[in-house]
Amino acid sequence: MKALVKKHAGPGLCLEDVPMPSMGHNDVLIKVEMTAICGTDLHIEQWDDWAARTIQPPLVIGHEFVGHIVDKGVEVTDYTIGQRVSAEGHITCGVCRNCRAGTPHLCPNTIGIGVNRDGAFAEYISMPARNLWPVPDPIPSELAAFFDPFGNAAHCALEFDVVGEDVLITGAGPIGIIAAGICRHIGARNIIITDLNDYRLQLAADMGATRTINIGRESLKQVLQDMGITGIDVGLEMSGNPQAFNDMLDVMYHGGKVALLGLLPSDTTINWDNVIFKGLDLKGIYGRKMFETWYKMTQMLLTGFPLQKVLTHVIDIDDYEQGFALMKSGQCGKVVCRWGS
Ligand code: NAD
Ligand code: ZN
Repeated sequence: MKALVKKHAGPGLCLEDVPMPSMGHNDVLIKVEMTAICGTDLHIEQWDDWAARTIQPPLVIGHEFVGHIVDKGVEVTDYTIGQRVSAEGHITCGVCRNCRAGTPHLCPNTIGIGVNRDGAFAEYISMPARNLWPVPDPIPSELAAFFDPFGNAAHCALEFDVVGEDVLITGAGPIGIIAAGICRHIGARNIIITDLNDYRLQLAADMGATRTINIGRESLKQVLQDMGITGIDVGLEMSGNPQAFNDMLDVMYHGGKVALLGLLPSDTTINWDNVIFKGLDLKGIYGRKMFETWYKMTQMLLTGFPLQKVLTHVIDIDDYEQGFALMKSGQCGKVVCRWGS
């Protein structure tokens, strides 16, 4: 089968033939219809420090996908051949304290598809049946292909109560854009989002952000003052940029809550006075809650959440290089690759 492979340590990817994935008794084999490009795939393509530390080539990359079940192991009873599914890409151990407590998103033994084992940039992928998420018919495949980052946004945006609150999102990447839409969908008051990229800020505005700020041109503090906002109630850090995180902490209201999704460098420093004297709640967010986040995002989609607004490009897999170049340029929302029939 055809797959997008990180063959050797170092930059680059190859679209080439690889063996079909093997399948256990509790697994299903999925014929992949579409795979979306994530920032993580870009890190792997570029071979940055994180990738060099984490990835063991050869590896089929990719973790955001939708497809149809074409085969299933003898123990799999709940799914049918032909069924359309996406899947949670974090494969948890099932036996640790958190898995057994019903909080597997906190499993310390998580294995990620497309990172720690072969992934979804392939014509076929094998997945444990318990990781599957059936896709209801009204949801188009090009949206179901990126349930994974939709779930990151939903997990983060739903962590704290934002109804009627003033929310600041730092970073209008695909996840920040979707989070802005979710905050709007569920009834936040002001949804302010920052970035340096006007194209993405426009997507965030289309999604429902009430005020966009290009921090290259405008001061966050000044904008809040002009809007009559004394402090932000809920912060969603989605840039992974230390300056953005510090700017957010500076403008939080006393007793405010901050959910941290962006991957900050380990040497990030902050002014702890902001956290301590303002009594802030800081919460790290990883992945998606299994499967409560999946439930929430599916129901939001079925009740009019405009996820399609962040989807800017659907391309053929043979044009993957163009897709990765788009992601690098930042002149895109989500980019989805279509596999041939
Ligand atoms: P992305 O890199 O596409 O988006 C980040 C955005 O932040 C970019 O648009 C960039 O221009 C903007 N930015 C950079 N500096 C900024 C600043 N000083 N102020 C405001 N904006 C700034 O990433 P994404 O795919 O949208 O993901 C968002 C973040 O979440 C990334 O850091 C990603 O690594 C991380 N992530 C975390 C998880 C998790 O489970 N915790 C999962 C997926 C992604
Ligand atoms: Zn576990």
